[in-house]
Amino acid sequence: MNKKQRMMLIRIIAAFIMMVALAFLPVSGPLAFVLYLLPYLTVGYDILLKAIKGIIRGQVFDECFLMATATVGAIALALYEGTSDYTEAIAVMLFYQIGELFQSYAVGKSRRSITELMDIRPDYANVERDGTLVKVDPDDIEVGSIIVVQPGEKVPIDGIVVSGSSSLNTSALTGESLPRSVEEGDEVISGSINMTSVLRIRTEKEFGESTVSKILDLVENASSRKSKSEDFISKFARVYTPAVCIGALLLALLPPLLSIALGNDPGWESWVYRALTFLVISCPCALVISIPLSFFAGIGGASREGILVKGSNYLETLSKTRIVVFDKTGTLTKGSFEVEGIHHSTMENEMLVEYAALAESSSSHPISRSLQKAYGKEIDRSRVSGVEEISGNGVIAKVDGRSVACGNDKLMRHIGVEPIPCHSAGTIIHVAIDGSYAGHIVISDIVKDDAADAIRALRKAGVERIVMLTGDREKVARSVASSLGIDEVYSELLPSGKVDKVESLLRDKSGSARLAFVGDGINDAPVLSRSDIGIAMGALGSDAAIEAADVVLMDDDPMKIATAIRISRKCLRIVYQNIVFAIGIKALCLLLGALGLADMWLAIFADVGVMVIAVLNAIRALRI
Ligand code: ADP
Ligand code: MG
Repeated sequence: MNKKQRMMLIRIIAAFIMMVALAFLPVSGPLAFVLYLLPYLTVGYDILLKAIKGIIRGQVFDECFLMATATVGAIALALYEGTSDYTEAIAVMLFYQIGELFQSYAVGKSRRSITELMDIRPDYANVERDGTLVKVDPDDIEVGSIIVVQPGEKVPIDGIVVSGSSSLNTSALTGESLPRSVEEGDEVISGSINMTSVLRIRTEKEFGESTVSKILDLVENASSRKSKSEDFISKFARVYTPAVCIGALLLALLPPLLSIALGNDPGWESWVYRALTFLVISCPCALVISIPLSFFAGIGGASREGILVKGSNYLETLSKTRIVVFDKTGTLTKGSFEVEGIHHSTMENEMLVEYAALAESSSSHPISRSLQKAYGKEIDRSRVSGVEEISGNGVIAKVDGRSVACGNDKLMRHIGVEPIPCHSAGTIIHVAIDGSYAGHIVISDIVKDDAADAIRALRKAGVERIVMLTGDREKVARSVASSLGIDEVYSELLPSGKVDKVESLLRDKSGSARLAFVGDGINDAPVLSRSDIGIAMGALGSDAAIEAADVVLMDDDPMKIATAIRISRKCLRIVYQNIVFAIGIKALCLLLGALGLADMWLAIFADVGVMVIAVLNAIRALRI
């Protein structure tokens, strides 16, 4: 509990003791009024002040107004009737505040547990100066600096290990509990924790651009993207409270006036009391608090699994996913190609790979990275100029002054070279130098270990249609798809062709079904943003993916898509349970209140009870 919450607790206890003590004191008349005012004001003064402030600001109808009117009204009624029974008004305030306290505690707790989960913000970076380690603000570290990360410390900035080897705990980022071992030359991402030995890292990004900062931004902004249910609730509260107040006013006025007209006793007291009870019952706090809390907990639970959801609206969409469209390279496959063969080369095989690797040196495509790895030597970028990447086709660049084109057969035809077809299964990288064909490199990718399981899990989670899109050859596409159990495949698509395909799928689908596209952000960022919900793999690499996607899978594990859908469904189920439960109980109590069958005691118990249950239910969304 924080200080404010402790103060509230003290006020509640003090008011409670005073209220019980007064019940045993035989006081009446003005003295009783003054004495009872003490516990009332002790527990409720802030509510009264807020209600007055609301009236002054012109925002009259809120919970404080309801509570203040109901309790002040009850006290006035007791004064008027001369019963000296003020306990009810105090009790209403008291329980209302108990409810508020509980709620702020629960919200604070779930917020804290999410920030704990996301407790990855590094406070400092170590740099070596004159042989000693100095702690500096990570914001001040320039790209290319050498930083030192000791065992037990967080990696503050993304970079590459220049010396040392160690294992890293990435569980806060990816939900992956196995440590990842890294050595010289490996990439490390900020937010992971160094476990065993000292690492020297050359930073590759600024702190603000590093993974850790990006994730924190996403999480912090997630709550600003509201779901439809949340919108509904806040709109609902805006009309609901004034409507209830008018209802209460009518309840207090109409029946007595009618009685007068009929020549009967108006019975003012009893109708005013019913109206006040009506106000207490109608307090909408259970809904107002539990719906956003459920979404918040759902987002928190997902991030614990390494799934970043950028807003509660996406959680809502995710729960309705019926079609999942996959990109192939880097999404279902590992995106690390091995060279399988080199055919029809007009030069030494090593030379061909060297030309290809150099031409590819500026591309971020997995093919490019794989060719550079196959080349195995440091790339001398001064030999390369005039790079032109034709997305979904390949690259053209000048290497040592010669024009090198490197890509698929579409690229070859584009530059007017007839490629020699290849019968091997695999992705074919044709190379042309100075306008004449120079051979091709056959490379092949491996399917991710649990991709097939992931597809099965999706089917089990109720996804009806699973589609794979790729820019690769049909032969490769078919073999990947059949090994994964995907029956619908479209191959040899350009990036724009992928958009067209997804658009036609979007047109065909039935009303409430939603389409998710899963990609790595390379050659498919437009599709990520065009689909109902874009899920990005390769969050640990591709910036474009993080930008364009609505959901980011931190560990590139396709299995997490089904997990994300399950989490979203559970969260939405909880939201609906709370809406139905809270509105149902309210409606029942309102009816009882209007009929004079419920008093204020029942009203406040119902209100606080519903709220407590709804909040406890909301917190379930945090656990999966
Ligand atoms: P996918 O849809 O499988 O992710 P892409 O759309 O990224 O594939 O690429 C489609 C095809 O375009 C590749 O299979 C390859 O033939 C060619 N290609 C794309 N980028 C490059 C590149 N940088 N170098 C060589 N070939 C490329
Ligand atoms: Mg791709």
